Amino acid sequence: MNRRHWLGAASAWAAAWPLAAQADAPPPADRLPFAEPPRPARMRVSADRIVDITVCTRPFRAQGPRIEAQRLHGKTVIHHYGHGGAGWSLSWGSATLGALPLIRRTGERRIAVIGCGAVGLTTARVAQRAGLRVRIYCRERPPAVASTFATGMWSPDSRVVTAEHATPAFNAMWERMARHSFRAWQDQLGLPGAPVEWRDGYVLSDLPFDQPLPAGQGGHGGPAEPDYPELLDLIPDLHPRSAPLSPAQHPFPVPHARRFTQMTFNIRPYQRLLMEDFFREGGEIVTRDFNDARDLAGLPERTIVNCTGYGARALFRDDTLIPVRGQIARLVPQPEVDYMVAWRGHNLMVVPRRDGLLVQAQGEHDFNNPDRSIDRAMSEAAVARLAALFA
Ligand SMILES: Cc1cc2nc3c(=O)[nH]c(=O)nc-3n(C[C@H](O)[C@H](O)[C@H](O)COP(=O)(O)OP(=O)(O)OC[C@H]3O[C@@H](n4cnc5c(N)ncnc54)[C@H](O)[C@@H]3O)c2cc1C
Repeated sequence: MNRRHWLGAASAWAAAWPLAAQADAPPPADRLPFAEPPRPARMRVSADRIVDITVCTRPFRAQGPRIEAQRLHGKTVIHHYGHGGAGWSLSWGSATLGALPLIRRTGERRIAVIGCGAVGLTTARVAQRAGLRVRIYCRERPPAVASTFATGMWSPDSRVVTAEHATPAFNAMWERMARHSFRAWQDQLGLPGAPVEWRDGYVLSDLPFDQPLPAGQGGHGGPAEPDYPELLDLIPDLHPRSAPLSPAQHPFPVPHARRFTQMTFNIRPYQRLLMEDFFREGGEIVTRDFNDARDLAGLPERTIVNCTGYGARALFRDDTLIPVRGQIARLVPQPEVDYMVAWRGHNLMVVPRRDGLLVQAQGEHDFNNPDRSIDRAMSEAAVARLAALFA
């Protein structure tokens, strides 16, 4: 198993653990991220503080996202789906470098986008910025879309392709999309509602970081989970360097820790921002549930961008789409908590967002699992593990 994927959206802590810096010795003082270790605020963690538990499935394809044009039922359908655990992170680059050139090739000035999740909304905005008129058709709109229930971290490599399919051509395109997206995210820092923020975090481990975890502690999504490529190695310059910490430099009762810095997305205000911008530029949203791809023939637009995420599996009978289940518990917001925690070997990650403390734990059978029912016991167990860090 690829060591970086013991947790679904684990890129943040993976970035904290570069290949060249696995030693656990604390760095010289001049290389510490802060002259004085900060005093992180205590997380208030107990099951009665869970205000919401959500489940959604990552639309994963072993081959990577499907971005291609097809003539279908008298229309040009531009497929743009299958972004796995990286849909938010890659949205700008994928829309601008993947979908937009295919849209432009049609010469159309009015287009339809099907889907109002991370990929559909961003594609619509990118098309508007290119001067096109856009109408979105969707079954659900935010906040009811699956994208709302993501963790909200910069994780452009998370379950986006398998190692087997990571060809040089794919890697080159992925790198361009990741770099373009990264730039676009930086442009959205400091806006009202803080849609994007940089956060510090702690990766904790009972074992030295260079020691493999015992079997069964990998936080794997199940025996079917494939190997993934080390894509983050293509963009090392986009991540501030992480640093190992001595026990005196962090407050947690674990022997090994590193501090890292990562970009996070406050998804709810960010979705609102995208929607407001979309409407302000004349966009329309029509609620519509397509049961069959033939229904597209009735749309007035001749170019249709298909951003239906996991919905493409049923609508376009695409069996290459694999659902990877993910469950997140949201605890009462604690604005004073401004750091992330990932506990290696305990299958636990916490992200502080404006709408709550997100506690993510991965089940043993998440890979190829379309079950969207809530397993409250799993979230309560994750919260109990987290509470042990603050006992
Ligand atoms: C637990 C979890 C955590 C995640 N964390 C992160 C993260 O931290 N960072 C990150 O970048 N990514 C993360 N992801 C991945 C990210 O959420 C997905 O890649 C992204 O949501 C995919 O967006 P989408 O727009 O393709 O799909 P969706 O959000 O599912 O949107 C699909 C749209 O299409 C519409 N639709 C579908 N079928 C039809 C139909 N037949 N007729 C009409 N409309 C239809 C839907 O109503 C919806 O509007 C996470 C995923 C999970 C499950």
